[in-house]
Amino acid sequence: MKNIKKRSWAEPYKMKMVELLKMTTKPQRIKAIKDAGYNTFLLPSEDVYIDLLTDSGTNSMSDRQWGVFMTGDEAYAGSKSYYILEEAIKKYYGYKYVVPTHQGRAAENILSQILIKKGDIVPGNMYFTTTRLHQELAGGTFVDVIIDEAHDPLNEHPFKGNIDIGKLDKLVKKHGAKKIPYVCLATNVNMAGGQPVSMANLKELRAYTKKHGIRIIHDMTRVAENAYFIQQREKGYDKKSIREIVKEICSYTDGATMSAKKDALVNIGGFMAINDWDVFEEARNLVVVYEGLHTYGGLAGRDMEAIAVGIAESLDDNHQRARVGQVEYLGQKMIEYNIPIVKPIGGHGIFVDAKAFLPHLTQDQFPAQTLAAELYIDSGVRTMERGIVSAGRKPNGENYYPKLELVRFTIPRRVYTQAHMDVIAESAAAVYDKRKSIKGLKMVYEPKYLRFFQARFQKL
Ligand SMILES: *Cc1c(COP(=O)(O)O)cnc(C)c1O
Repeated sequence: MKNIKKRSWAEPYKMKMVELLKMTTKPQRIKAIKDAGYNTFLLPSEDVYIDLLTDSGTNSMSDRQWGVFMTGDEAYAGSKSYYILEEAIKKYYGYKYVVPTHQGRAAENILSQILIKKGDIVPGNMYFTTTRLHQELAGGTFVDVIIDEAHDPLNEHPFKGNIDIGKLDKLVKKHGAKKIPYVCLATNVNMAGGQPVSMANLKELRAYTKKHGIRIIHDMTRVAENAYFIQQREKGYDKKSIREIVKEICSYTDGATMSAKKDALVNIGGFMAINDWDVFEEARNLVVVYEGLHTYGGLAGRDMEAIAVGIAESLDDNHQRARVGQVEYLGQKMIEYNIPIVKPIGGHGIFVDAKAFLPHLTQDQFPAQTLAAELYIDSGVRTMERGIVSAGRKPNGENYYPKLELVRFTIPRRVYTQAHMDVIAESAAAVYDKRKSIKGLKMVYEPKYLRFFQARFQKL
């Protein structure tokens, strides 16, 4: 008789240092969330037990990354660390020219200013908050061309990040290719729930855009997680390494913006990469205005070197298996507790469908914002809203009403254990059990830009 039915895997690392957490009581948490205007972004992190607000800049760095913190070159111009970063980006991603920036949105700002003219149309596979805002500030209009399946939280399409070439073609026919400076292609689409783009879709997109002379700019923030899904799900890629797959993805695009705070396993940093010398030249000029000289772009030398090491570590197959595996573990637990989550389970977190969780609330009562506050009160787990508050207002002042009203449980990389995942799932289940008694919120303060960061609410 066989004892073992299934062999478990575990993380390809062990702990060398730990960070102690403050444990709070429920009355303390009720007060803390009220003081924070029911906005988890406004909670002091000290009052948070397990922080799933974001996977951005919350990664644990490795001993090798901490090592280069000592050897980084802090020269103002021509830092050795810059050349190490440039080398890593060329080697692993294949882009020709690199401009470091302090984080992703700074790269988006520079690139949008260079490539977008007033009145331009920028198609993309679902918006990202900062990306779209920079496109709009540069005078462009974002148009969503993701496949319809991405808007349906129950649809189990394996590549919900794919671009609908038909939708793109309609735009090109309506406005003309000249009005479209580039297609903004995000890999492992954040706002769709960490859903991948297939290589087949990318090839098709490349062929289409080539024919029409349109660039593809790659929001490559989570490209390694996307590559993992291609390896697991797409025919012909199961024997390929994540490293090879990432390089192939990048090869179908003309340039990229990157928030290294995600995939690349650092706490701060980003870059813009481009294959076109003219665009690079202008970017290298513009970065001096906003960030710093083009050989540091708002980063310390040590930061640039930690990114270079982080890029290599992020492309390790065992790392990605543990990373996405942990997210899948949490998602499976939630499914066992009947909690409505976006499927398939994404790469960087679990997205709970707040409309299905709290069906008695209208979207104007902020179901996702409400649910995030309730979870915090229950257990000190901090999540965030990805629904009507995050979607913000159109340039004409009307609210966007996104189809998806989600609470995001984002998992930082290499930070929490499986026991933490159990506590999180049990807390979600406890809130689910009392869902009918939960009342909504009203917004009492609304900032002008990216309102979800600072908006304040009161209980109805
Ligand atoms: C985080 C993120 C950005 C912006 O990067 P920052 O480093 O936060 O400025 C852009 N696109 C996507 C998909 C992201 O997740």
